[in-house]
Amino acid sequence: MKVAFITLGCRVNSYDSEAMAEKFLKSGWKVVNHDEKADAYVINTCTVTNMGDRKSRQMISKSRKVNENAVIAVVGCYSQVAPEKVSDIEGVDIVLGTKNKGDIVQYVNEFINERNQIVNVKDVFTDKKFEDLNIDEYQDKTRAFLKIQDGCNRFCSYCLIPYARGGVCSKDPEKVLNEIKKLAEHGFKEIILSGIHIASYGDDLKGDWNLINIVEKIEEIDGIERIRIGSIEPRFFDDETINKIKNMTKMCPHFHLSLQSGCSETLKRMNRKYTADEYKDTVDKLRKNIKDVSITTDVIVGFPGETEEEFNKTYEFLKGIELSKMHIFKYSPREGTKAADMKDQIDGNIKDKRSAELIELDKINENKFMSKFLNREMDVLFEKKFNNKEDLYEGYTPNYIKVVVKSNKDISRQILKVKLTEIKDEHLLGKLIL
Ligand code: SF4
Repeated sequence: MKVAFITLGCRVNSYDSEAMAEKFLKSGWKVVNHDEKADAYVINTCTVTNMGDRKSRQMISKSRKVNENAVIAVVGCYSQVAPEKVSDIEGVDIVLGTKNKGDIVQYVNEFINERNQIVNVKDVFTDKKFEDLNIDEYQDKTRAFLKIQDGCNRFCSYCLIPYARGGVCSKDPEKVLNEIKKLAEHGFKEIILSGIHIASYGDDLKGDWNLINIVEKIEEIDGIERIRIGSIEPRFFDDETINKIKNMTKMCPHFHLSLQSGCSETLKRMNRKYTADEYKDTVDKLRKNIKDVSITTDVIVGFPGETEEEFNKTYEFLKGIELSKMHIFKYSPREGTKAADMKDQIDGNIKDKRSAELIELDKINENKFMSKFLNREMDVLFEKKFNNKEDLYEGYTPNYIKVVVKSNKDISRQILKVKLTEIKDEHLLGKLIL
């Protein structure tokens, strides 16, 4: 039997899909590409924007076209918030939410035997347990994403995630450490800890577990040489935390601090819990204490009520703070959120213009950041061939600069010293120091 996966949205979804794939493999199924004919298609949906909904629906009908007799299982955030809409889509056989993906193989077998549509979407607000979806064998052998936290209690005014994923829940620390030990035994050198709101790791656990002390434990695991953490909110970095990170030897100096807006009034309407000044203070402290730190961010333009003056504040803020990479999103109203009902929604052309201005600024800032490392020697963890070229390999520095070098032999999965010589598009070229 063959199963194919289509995964939309974030890294947490990617982790869940990989874990579900492993469950199928362990039950004797073969995992194939989603454009191949399969006996079952699992569509792991996203609902962050209305686009996610549309894309999820397109993927359902696309899979149905590849094999009209296949079992179609729809799981994830969109099916969690709209189970009726999803189950009404023609050809959908199984609808699960965000909480019971671990039993996917049983549900598919049940459908094959009984041929009755299954809809099982649990209430995320009453079921607060972290669903353990272990991964023992990853395809990529260089770095592994590990989901250690799910859910969010923040309720930013534009975001539906707390409704789709429920409140904060954390993976048991012993299980986290055991999974990472296994990954180290399998040859992984880098671990990326991810979650929906990873700064909340441990809030729901007994004892005094938090993100910092789990990272301190991971540091002790032999074989793991780099630890990264996924997107995190600026308020996480108080003085004590920064001091601890400063003394860590494996934590990479790259932090993705979601800003969303550089204007405090806009941030307030977004229900973000920090001001632009507080964000800047955090960035300053990180730069002062952590050598070569790279700080990247997300920014939303065209949030309801964002006047020209507010946008200019954001622009000037970002021009001054010079982050190493920005991901710019045009605000898109998400039905069911507070922001979708706010007055003064912004015209699409204005969003386009603001987005283009920030993308331009991003190129300048990114270039400035990369140029600081020219002629420096840095460690690069090589991952794979660059653009499938025979003698070019790509990898990342600890502060997440992509580096491409020439090599006649396969250097993937190795950490090697490189002299950085030239900026090329969005990466640096370098020479191996042998
Ligand atoms: S912090 Fe805000 S944007 Fe992030 S998941 Fe929670 S509610 Fe959504």
